[in-house]
Amino acid sequence: MKKQKKTIKITPAAYKKEYPWLKEVDSLALANEQLHLERAYRKFFEESKTGFPKFKSKHGSRYYQKQKRKVARCHEKVRNQRKDYHHKLSFRLAEEYDAVAVEDLDLKAMIRGLNFGKSVMDNGDGNFLNMLSYKLEQRGKVLVKTDRFYPSSKKCSKCGKVKETLALSERTYHCSCGNHMDRDVNAAINMREEGKRLLCA
Ligand SMILES: [Zn+2]
Repeated sequence: MKKQKKTIKITPAAYKKEYPWLKEVDSLALANEQLHLERAYRKFFEESKTGFPKFKSKHGSRYYQKQKRKVARCHEKVRNQRKDYHHKLSFRLAEEYDAVAVEDLDLKAMIRGLNFGKSVMDNGDGNFLNMLSYKLEQRGKVLVKTDRFYPSSKKCSKCGKVKETLALSERTYHCSCGNHMDRDVNAAINMREEGKRLLCA
């Protein structure tokens, strides 16, 4: 086959008038891309063994791979730090208390609903509650799970009245009985009492 030496001499920057979106790209990058394409097409038509042009992919570049490894190492570090913290905290709780009451939230449904993605679920036995559970068990203690519908937040820990609604923005629990306390403290007292009730049941 006759070698076609003629290549397009016009620089791609000249097309910027006709195609305004090309203005976003710098001229050098365009020229480079043009050279790559020309070479790919020339090779495709002149050397049958070359086959279809493989378009340059950023995923294959050495820089991309290097950055990817860097990010992966960083994520692993964070994962290890979190795991370490969870081990220390569950150890302290298991040492200090005879029983711990937690809410049996339907975590899987929550995560699915909130679109957190797979990574959140990927912690198997690195899971904090699992750690706490077996550390308590090793000491002959228990992890009590309250019913998922137990109204720990809506219930007044002083008089027992249950609110119909409680917005997440209400950080202080107010009850007509005169109880005003931090929302989380109120819920924690309810959890402690419910945990004790379940243990004695
Ligand atoms: Zn009350």
